[in-house]
Amino acid sequence: MLPAAIAAADAGARAVMVPTANAAEASLVSSLEVLPVAHLAQAIRFLRGEGDVEAVNGHAHVAENGSGLDLSDVRGNVVAKRALVIAAAGGHNLLMVGSPGGGKTMLARRLPDILPPMSEQESFEVTRVASIAGLLPDGGSLVTHRPFRAPHHSASTTGLIGGGSGVPHPGEVTLAHRGVLFLDEFAEFRRETLQALRQPLEDGVIRIVRARWAVTYPARFQLIAAANPCPCGYDGDEVKGCSCLPGPKDGYKSRLRGPVIDRIDLQCTVARIKRKELFELPAGETSVTLAAQVADSRERQRLRYGPGGPRSNADVPPRDIDKTCRLQAAARTAVEVAIERQSLSARGAHRVIRVARTIADLAGVDEVTRDHVEEALDYRVSDSAT
Ligand SMILES: [Zn+2]
Repeated sequence: MLPAAIAAADAGARAVMVPTANAAEASLVSSLEVLPVAHLAQAIRFLRGEGDVEAVNGHAHVAENGSGLDLSDVRGNVVAKRALVIAAAGGHNLLMVGSPGGGKTMLARRLPDILPPMSEQESFEVTRVASIAGLLPDGGSLVTHRPFRAPHHSASTTGLIGGGSGVPHPGEVTLAHRGVLFLDEFAEFRRETLQALRQPLEDGVIRIVRARWAVTYPARFQLIAAANPCPCGYDGDEVKGCSCLPGPKDGYKSRLRGPVIDRIDLQCTVARIKRKELFELPAGETSVTLAAQVADSRERQRLRYGPGGPRSNADVPPRDIDKTCRLQAAARTAVEVAIERQSLSARGAHRVIRVARTIADLAGVDEVTRDHVEEALDYRVSDSAT
């Protein structure tokens, strides 16, 4: 009933008549007056003007579904945490590389809590998806927390993007709509499965075409990918050495430069923390503090791009980068030097400038400086496949 009520509100309806049992669910749509009726005869009497129906409106109840996790629980890894905050602030996709046990999953799970709260419209969209997928609890409640989806690397292409026989069911990219799609063991996903992510990453929707059906589902998610540095997992680890042979290791690393990588603006390494350091390291900032920084930064972007413009720095199209991401002369020189000396590609340069723009927004300044560009260059994704 909730999706029907949302659809009615979207179509401009101001009131809906529903069976009494569904009134609470429909009343989650705050703009609607809900008229509960016990049976058809009551509805007919009301429509003839012969009887009254007591309207209900306002949010009946809202699902409490925050993660309860806090970034201050994650000790050390200051650079990875910073990368996560930049990803949240600019809507950037992120790849984390590091040995098992470094905390990549812990970090990713805490992203939804530092992202801006969903608007009512976004909540409706997510609730509608949850309803189609049968994930809404009985009686219905409005989903107000951004989704976090973490499919296993053995997931099929259909499981990830949707499909199946009969009416195509939504896949993980749709279940992660307005939230986070976390792909752990990124290099272990099938290449064609990752290839299928490109279209939703570009368009924010997924079109599934079958012989008898064609459906379009929303799929605007933030991608967080995580991977070990090599098949054994310990390349570059301070304590445990890598035991991989050069051939498989090169093959693995080439998969980290696979088809989706040119949609990932940020890459960071996540180091394992030595056990004795765990208790000595300071806790760091809380998710509440970081969420406030992210919200300020998003507000700057909203004002810059205006209605109908990019939703965040990650969405600025290449043709608009020069116009919207103003670089100081020294910042531009730093990008040019990186193009010359570090073989930064044109796409790579755009990624660096978008990330630098977000770093400047987090600092609350209008112009991108050399420092912002240099920090952005530290989060560079390998360009060899782009
Ligand atoms: Zn290894």
